[in-house]
Amino acid sequence: MKMLQAQTYADVLVTTAPNRKEAESRQAPAAPRSIPSTSGSRLLDAFDSHFHLDRLSKQLEQSWDNTLHTISNPTEVRIQHPVKVTGGVMVFDPERFDHVPSVFRDYKFAIAVGLHPKKAHLYNESVAQKLKQLTEMRLIRELGEVGLDRNTHPDTWARQEDVLDQVLKMCNSQLLLILHLRGNKKDRHQAAVSRKCLEIVRRHCPKEQRIHLHCFAGGLEQLQEWRTSYPNCYFGFTGLVAKFHKGQREALRRVPSDRLLIGTDAPYMSMLPGLRHSYPAYIGEVAHLVAEVRQEPVAVTLSSSLANGHRPYQTYTRLVPPYPKEAEKL
Ligand SMILES: [Zn+2]
Repeated sequence: MKMLQAQTYADVLVTTAPNRKEAESRQAPAAPRSIPSTSGSRLLDAFDSHFHLDRLSKQLEQSWDNTLHTISNPTEVRIQHPVKVTGGVMVFDPERFDHVPSVFRDYKFAIAVGLHPKKAHLYNESVAQKLKQLTEMRLIRELGEVGLDRNTHPDTWARQEDVLDQVLKMCNSQLLLILHLRGNKKDRHQAAVSRKCLEIVRRHCPKEQRIHLHCFAGGLEQLQEWRTSYPNCYFGFTGLVAKFHKGQREALRRVPSDRLLIGTDAPYMSMLPGLRHSYPAYIGEVAHLVAEVRQEPVAVTLSSSLANGHRPYQTYTRLVPPYPKEAEKL
């Protein structure tokens, strides 16, 4: 396997950031290099809490089956911190809802169905019906990603809020809710979008609701607001951590280990120079970024996310054999 040599995330930050001083000020103390993501010759297990199989397949011009194979056998990709992906969550959009049942056989990965806020315009009666049918299937226990994204024209924001309000009517205690929240550049701590989303979620979900705040980029205040309102809220981090400013890094440090998740958001968030797509196999790179900020061994970050991933998503316990028989009854 070809490895990238000697370029750390700090190097990437410094060489690619427009303002070198600002980038240097964001650097965390160096991660403990003596702690690798392997244990002896064995790769450490890792959980990718968020990736898009359908969009990755489309970008690679591959079948879903081949893409799943690539995920499990990533010999072609350049990985600096190899790990073994032993679980994760595949997120699907409405355009692929009809094909979702066909991937049940890969019991390593849980399946989430939702509507990305940037696709709110696609929501209609037919999508709502399919989404409801899928969330009522016994083997789908994740609703998302849904949420609000302010990196769009302000004219679309009301529609996003309305769709989120509609979709959350389908949520219940059996479903884990995956939220996508993104503020615009002026909203450095995602404060406005976080507040608005929390207001809508509170209309529908009781305090016990299990939530995965995917690609969390809020500050301390947002972290506290969500934790207070929803104690079963998990905070997911991606390669975006490389661009975090001080307040966001502080929040990441304060996420309790039993509420931490990491994800690639593949095929997005390509983390290595010159690489067009991200893959679940890059979850080790995300783990290193997160571990640097949290000043903890990478192995701890990986194992926290793995344990947390299996807890709320219940991937193994829910889908172990006799899973094929279960699937036949869908
Ligand atoms: Zn996503």
